[in-house]
Amino acid sequence: MSIKTDPNLKKELREFGVTNVDNCYHCGNCTATCPLSTSDNSFPRKMMKYVQMGLKDKIKASPEPWLCYYCGDCSVKCPRGAEPGENMMAIRRYLTSLYDWTGFSKKFYTSEKFEYLAIGTVGLIVGLILILFHGTPDMEHAKLNSVWPAHIVEIGDVLMGGVLAFLLLSNTWRCISFILGDLKSKIPMGIYISQAKELIIHFLTQKKFAECEDRMPWFVHLMIMTGYATVFLLVVGFLAGGIHFIGLYDERLMFQRDIIYPLYHPIRLLGYYSTFALFYGVTYAMIGRLKKSKPSYKFSHSTDWMFLILLQLTTLTGILIHVTRLVDLPMPTYALYVIHMMVCIPMLVLEVPFAKWAHLAYRPVAIYLTKVKAAYVAQAGSSETAE
Ligand code: SF4
Ligand code: SF4
Repeated sequence: MSIKTDPNLKKELREFGVTNVDNCYHCGNCTATCPLSTSDNSFPRKMMKYVQMGLKDKIKASPEPWLCYYCGDCSVKCPRGAEPGENMMAIRRYLTSLYDWTGFSKKFYTSEKFEYLAIGTVGLIVGLILILFHGTPDMEHAKLNSVWPAHIVEIGDVLMGGVLAFLLLSNTWRCISFILGDLKSKIPMGIYISQAKELIIHFLTQKKFAECEDRMPWFVHLMIMTGYATVFLLVVGFLAGGIHFIGLYDERLMFQRDIIYPLYHPIRLLGYYSTFALFYGVTYAMIGRLKKSKPSYKFSHSTDWMFLILLQLTTLTGILIHVTRLVDLPMPTYALYVIHMMVCIPMLVLEVPFAKWAHLAYRPVAIYLTKVKAAYVAQAGSSETAE
């Protein structure tokens, strides 16, 4: 089988953040250091070689970039400053753009101008819709539903959720197709099902990350992920419970409620957990990036900053809305709600299918596929032996 090389690959990858790759002389220190590298899925040296040689198809079919959680140990041990950890990160950005069939992700990652324009445009559209279309505000009490009725807002939520789910799932399907290739249809369904628990475990716990020497980045990652997942599940849970779509309107079943639950109500406690987890995780990551306190914070792509800024603004405006609702200040609540939506919606619309949040899907899927492949190879080997 002939192997195609792409002489422009290195140049293309530089736009995604690949750096110092030519410094690598393949001593293998990085792979020996990496706590997550295995004999079946060895990295990062192999990926450095693929980039140097322009092996685009090999990179496209590699699950290895997703098996790396960017602890940065390999970059510290590299004698040539070839930054294997950062290069794995840059390859993940590149893969995200390859999985995305719309081409949007590539533009988002490779042009800062496009990134700012996309975020600004979505934010402005959301702000204009909220300012132009609203009901009669209750000026006595802070009641969001008097201005933007929940049953209308939630129809918008459902539509947006449907579009985002379609984009993310179709991109994830391409990720699966690239990684498994022809094997996709050959692997028996029973193997896919028997390994499904891996997908759930790795999605919920990121437990591989905890195998790295410095466990703090894992903890920060887990805080951000669980904080976000809690909000997401609350929104989805309430949308699913939103039986108003079949004609029954009940405010208790909606995410956007004017009811304030008692302090120890489980929903309020979950809300506090997600706010704390996001605020803590994002603040830690921002300070780390400013101080370059860890190897994984040494390099920052513009999209890394944009992701953290949008997430932090969403969290802060969410906290402020909660406070103004508690002290019952109508106008500040309504103004903050508009700002909150202007940062939260672009983050969801652009980051979930096209950028950083998509990693939440691709990483556990890639880990799952390596387990599926290993189980298939083991099964095929044992049937050959039996024959
Ligand atoms: S990236 Fe550094 S440590 Fe890894 S093989 Fe290359 S030179 Fe060696
Ligand atoms: S950054 Fe950490 S997990 Fe990633 S390749 Fe390097 S040592 Fe392995």
